[in-house]
Amino acid sequence: NSTFLYCDQLVSDFEKVIETPIINNSSVYYTGVDLGTAYIVLAVLDENYQPVAGAYRFASVVKDGMVVDYIGAIRIVKELKQEIEEKLGTELIYAAAALPPGTDTLDSGAIKNVVQAAGFEITNILDEPTAANAVLKIKDGAIIDIGGGTTGIAILKNGKVIYVADEPTGGTHFSLVISGAYKMSFDEADVYKRDFKNHRELIPVIRPVIEKVSTIISRHIKKYSVKELYLVGGTCCLEGIEDIIAKQTKLPTYKPQNPMFVTPLGIALNC
Ligand code: ATP
Repeated sequence: NSTFLYCDQLVSDFEKVIETPIINNSSVYYTGVDLGTAYIVLAVLDENYQPVAGAYRFASVVKDGMVVDYIGAIRIVKELKQEIEEKLGTELIYAAAALPPGTDTLDSGAIKNVVQAAGFEITNILDEPTAANAVLKIKDGAIIDIGGGTTGIAILKNGKVIYVADEPTGGTHFSLVISGAYKMSFDEADVYKRDFKNHRELIPVIRPVIEKVSTIISRHIKKYSVKELYLVGGTCCLEGIEDIIAKQTKLPTYKPQNPMFVTPLGIALNC
């Protein structure tokens, strides 16, 4: 899909530098810090806004967009920062962070404090859909961010976010259903779910949860003339999720090659 040329290239470059960082003589580095329910991700861009390094860690320090383990969050961001600094041989100074839609009045202080306490100078705090759209570059439609704990819905008109919502259904619920159906622990179910080999088999099991997410999407977009949906967030890695959402919402539904890392990269682009 040509819509995602820039996004697919950027995410694929980012995946490579997570493995093998690019050491160059950039005069400045921009870091995007994404504190999620399931993962904490750091994405580092050079002076030309090209990915040079990245790191992520499975963590449960955030719940429904709120920092619930403040000390744990600081420790992990600090460790990821140090890990990248050692690889790049330079100090990371500037960072931006993002907030899930609708939580800005609740928690912007906590997220800002975590990033600062980890040793960064904050240059920007933006909302997650605006961050994602810096990578997707969509003019009209809705960005649906199905993460770990929540589903974010952001409606765009002429490239601007005009409506946002965040609902507490996400990948965690998919894992809970798999855990029940397969008699696995939550962690085992989550690992099983993330393996692409298992997606075809899992779709019938998790279809009701995908349909619930679709109903939530339809409810939020019904007052707006949304014509297309764009999927991001780790849960949208599930192969076939787009077809069920398209069928249920009756809207063309697109997703980039890798819907993970879109938001962290967008945060770094806005640093
Ligand atoms: P939130 O946005 O809710 O705060 P987050 O930012 O941590 O959470 P993401 O990193 O976008 O969310 O997505 C995490 C979710 O994606 C987890 O539930 C994880 O199990 C799921 N996930 C990650 N990779 C895959 C995969 N390959 N297949 C299916 N699900 C996946």
